[in-house]
Amino acid sequence: MTATAAEDEMDDGRAVQPLRLLLVDDDAVDRLAVSRALRQAKLPLSIAESRTAEEALAAFAEGAFDAVLLDYRLPDMDGLEVLRRMNGRAHGSTAILMLTGMDDDDLATRCIEAGAQDFLLKQDLTPRHLIRAVTHARMRHRIEMALLESHERLRELAEQDPLTGLANRYYFDQTLRAAVPRAMRYGFKLSLLLLDLDNFKFINDGHGHDVGDRMLRVVADRLTAITREGDILCRLGGDEFAIIAFQHEGVESVHALAQRLLDDLAAPVVVEGLTLPTSVSIGIALCPDNSDNADELFKCADLAMYRAKRDGRNQAHYFSDDLQTQVMRRVQTEHDLRAAIETGGFELFYQPQVDAATGAVCAAEALIRWRHPERGLLGPGAFLDIAEDTGLIGPIGDWVLATACADIAAGRLGSVPRVAVNLSAQQLRAAGLVERLAAVLAASRLEPSQVEVEITESVLISDFGVALGVLEGIRDLGVSIAIDDFGTGYSSLAYLKRLPIDCLKVDKSFLNQVPEGEKDKRLLRALIQMARAMGFRVVVEGVETRAQAEVCRDFGADTLQGFHFARPMPWTELLPFLKD
Ligand code: C2E
Ligand code: MG
Ligand code: MG
Repeated sequence: MTATAAEDEMDDGRAVQPLRLLLVDDDAVDRLAVSRALRQAKLPLSIAESRTAEEALAAFAEGAFDAVLLDYRLPDMDGLEVLRRMNGRAHGSTAILMLTGMDDDDLATRCIEAGAQDFLLKQDLTPRHLIRAVTHARMRHRIEMALLESHERLRELAEQDPLTGLANRYYFDQTLRAAVPRAMRYGFKLSLLLLDLDNFKFINDGHGHDVGDRMLRVVADRLTAITREGDILCRLGGDEFAIIAFQHEGVESVHALAQRLLDDLAAPVVVEGLTLPTSVSIGIALCPDNSDNADELFKCADLAMYRAKRDGRNQAHYFSDDLQTQVMRRVQTEHDLRAAIETGGFELFYQPQVDAATGAVCAAEALIRWRHPERGLLGPGAFLDIAEDTGLIGPIGDWVLATACADIAAGRLGSVPRVAVNLSAQQLRAAGLVERLAAVLAASRLEPSQVEVEITESVLISDFGVALGVLEGIRDLGVSIAIDDFGTGYSSLAYLKRLPIDCLKVDKSFLNQVPEGEKDKRLLRALIQMARAMGFRVVVEGVETRAQAEVCRDFGADTLQGFHFARPMPWTELLPFLKD
């Protein structure tokens, strides 16, 4: 390929444009020789000339040149320095060729390294040679530029989230890692805000991913509008976003930012005619206050976000030492729970349920306790939610079920005809519950009627379809089902009617003002009567006084449970209690 052919190809037919050259040489004779040689090539050319580095840099800054022929030896500046300055300003369109009278390989290398496209010896220049050098240099330069551009584009792709156009997780990690040490070195503060949309899963599941994606784009636009110039906004993935905010005006500016985020994201998003509710939970960690290390800072913000979710969503939560302590405690508890599952540290206590009319014990509810090696005997409030969150409730729940069944089968509950076992939300959702229950019944040779399962009301509403199927399976085994803590959830009567339920356990909170509060009494009566009218057996829990027991009995409750009759106790204490 000849130089001109190459030029034609590169220019895509635009090679007819004159080639714009800047010739820089302090020696008039050399300038004349070079420009004469160039013109002999009979190419359309325009040649500007400069005699000094200063002139050359000024001309370079003004005009758009295709190539610069630069004498290495100039009166006012080293040729390498001129080269560097031109490269520093070039917008990537000018090729630079060094001209020199010295045949010096070392210098040639340094010029090329400094960004020159070629290094030419003045004494070797022929018109042909010169034109070829210029056009080759231009071509090489363009290829370099094209490579640079595609490299930039690749970097963009690697650092950009294609859905929202925001920076992605990779970019975020890089930036945070760089920003934290810089903040430490220069003594400024930065805050990390982690944002997680509330209930986005429902949007995705309910309306499809297309709608979910469009919602994310709207959210990204709103976030972009809120974040200040200089702050870094990224989408970490899914419905998680992050902002690295440089706190020039102190912590108040973070408060203000968080508040704006909460406010602006609270407005529903309209997608395809659907009005979708939005809100966001935000976790905030400050550098250097909470940590001077990027990874730790992220963990702090993550914990704070988790806390914001737990506290009811749609809020911002700051990381604090207190939170740290709680989190450490959770981590420790999880660790200890795993050990207890391996080596056994759980016990079942039983609380009798009493027939309201006769006073006879008609059932006992199994309630789990954990004999912790350091913390002593723990109630379910100290560990069950952690077990739920970590999935450990699975093996724990299996143990409870097997142990309760074994205890009643072995006569350890004396004359108690039925044992009630609590099932958690996770247990109900996990596959194979009905099969495991059947296996436990078979292994302990129990009549199904000797077992009742208790399920809290809130579980049923959140996953009605799943719950219905599982409950029907349990019912088919012959095991009865009670709804626990009834009245504290939001289940509608229509739901209750469709579920295969035997018993409602009225929550103890309905007894708070009983017997003295007239309104509370009326409410309790209505609840009991309604439940009975629907054909359910009614248990009232949390009966603490004789007066409460009488009121409940008068209102028609079938069964009573509470401290007035007995506290939960190990089976070894239950037997003497039953004899009394
Ligand atoms: P729950 O199933 O509603 O159990 C009744 C709770 O009320 C028990 O608390 C019991 O000790 C307490 N209680 C009973 N009578 C009275 C009373 O007269 N006054 C007051 N103030 N409280 C009374 P506990 O044992 O701390 O259990 C708390 C909750 O933990 C249970 O509420 C149940 O939801 C859950 N739970 C307990 N054991 C298990 C289990 O083995 N598996 C699962 N999934 N959950 C369990
Ligand atoms: Mg219960
Ligand atoms: Mg209850």
